[in-house]
Amino acid sequence: MRSKIVAGNWKMNKNSEETEDLINELIDKLPTDGNTKIIIAPTFINLASAVDHTEFTNIRVAAQNMHQAENGAYTGEISADMLKSIGVNTVILGHSERRSIFHETDAVISFKVDTALKHDMTVIFCFGEELKDRQNKQHFNIVENQLRDGLFHIDKSAWANIILAYEPVWAIGTGETASPEQAQEMHEFIRETVRKVFGSDIAEDVSILYGGSVKPDNAAAIFSKPDIDGGLIGGAALKADDFVAIVNGI
Ligand code: PEP
Repeated sequence: MRSKIVAGNWKMNKNSEETEDLINELIDKLPTDGNTKIIIAPTFINLASAVDHTEFTNIRVAAQNMHQAENGAYTGEISADMLKSIGVNTVILGHSERRSIFHETDAVISFKVDTALKHDMTVIFCFGEELKDRQNKQHFNIVENQLRDGLFHIDKSAWANIILAYEPVWAIGTGETASPEQAQEMHEFIRETVRKVFGSDIAEDVSILYGGSVKPDNAAAIFSKPDIDGGLIGGAALKADDFVAIVNGI
């Protein structure tokens, strides 16, 4: 069955002490009885302490990225095995900042997906069009291509470990949000695209998150749509009260 999920991508924010403080605040304020899965993604350096701090809570910890190789001469990189060895079983892959700033292509992202799945990790697979794509009415094509080139080579059996995160690039960190109707239209298209290739069971079961300037005041309207199963939250995940309000908006 499809899960409701709210994930916070902390990006390159929060030092060690701040990470601990924010986690403590989240533990105090997040509901403990809901069905929503809560994921936080602090920076690599704070993952181990985040895993320790959240051990007896309903908060799960994800990495924001990882390298596709098992190990070797890749200075500055982190492997799937390293993440697993500290108890991190979830990884965000294909985030638009990885694509645009660090030049990750669909091909590289697809290798990362393979490596993560080989290590039995859950992948939050991010994708979404740029503003020019939407203006040129290419947004559906772009999204379909990103899914096909980055993800659709996987086995049917691997879908249990996939969470999709549709993040229109023009809405990330800009304060501009897709309207609930725009987001729903794309989520429905994504689910249909998955259905055509992998069948109805997988399409119905996969959680599709929306990301792009989700805030406490727009979360409930976005989450009310039938094909939107939660959110991937950037800026608003850095303030406990905002993140908790977004979780409560589901
Ligand atoms: C993100 O970076 O995944 C994101 C959705 O950021 P923001 O919420 O700040 O737009």
